[in-house]
Amino acid sequence: MLDVIERLLQLQDRDRNLLQVQEALRRIPTEREELRLRLESAQKALESAKHQVMHLESERKRLELEVVQKQQQIEKYSLQQYQTKKNEEYRAIGHEISLCKQAVTDLEDTELDVMEKIESGQRQVAAAQRHAAETQRTVEGRLGDLAGRETELQAQLRQLEEDRTALAGAIDPGALARYERLLKSKGGNVLVGIQHGVCGGCHMQLSRQTVVDCQAEKEIVSCSNCGRILYFTPDMDVSLVE
Ligand SMILES: [Zn+2]
Repeated sequence: MLDVIERLLQLQDRDRNLLQVQEALRRIPTEREELRLRLESAQKALESAKHQVMHLESERKRLELEVVQKQQQIEKYSLQQYQTKKNEEYRAIGHEISLCKQAVTDLEDTELDVMEKIESGQRQVAAAQRHAAETQRTVEGRLGDLAGRETELQAQLRQLEEDRTALAGAIDPGALARYERLLKSKGGNVLVGIQHGVCGGCHMQLSRQTVVDCQAEKEIVSCSNCGRILYFTPDMDVSLVE
């Protein structure tokens, strides 16, 4: 194998690792944001459950107050009824009293419904509280892991960059520039092998001359279709697919 190809393959190996580490580092803020949103959603669910119970409790107080007002009204009517001398007025007040009593019964029924809803709402608050606490523990743990991973990846990144600088320094500048240009457009797949006379990058059929030039190992050979640098190792099957 050409010495420059061998060096470029080492560089490509380092660059592939670099790309992986950079990608892993890029994902970290998203992962952090997902965790933050998960915690926020659990806390919002708890707030909403609490709010629901508070709303029901104020509804219950309102109903109780209304019952008290109706009962005071009944007392007032009873006094008026006691004091009246007219039969017609006595009957009319009696009718008002029975309306008030019916209203009190209805209000008390509604209040019972609301009390049941409060009980079930309180169970929901307790469940939401447990869930929020559990989520907080999980999220804090994961954020800790994530910070650890970030530090580790940054150390790997620095090491890989140092290695890369050293490797790149030992490569012919012309070949390096050619490689760097391809790295920008093709990512970590610049040097590719030949299998069955096909480019390992774009999978297009290579000309017989290209394959022969590559096997000769005298100069850097590129795929005429995608421009990637081709290399050959004895284990590769270069026989053309006819
Ligand atoms: Zn190609």
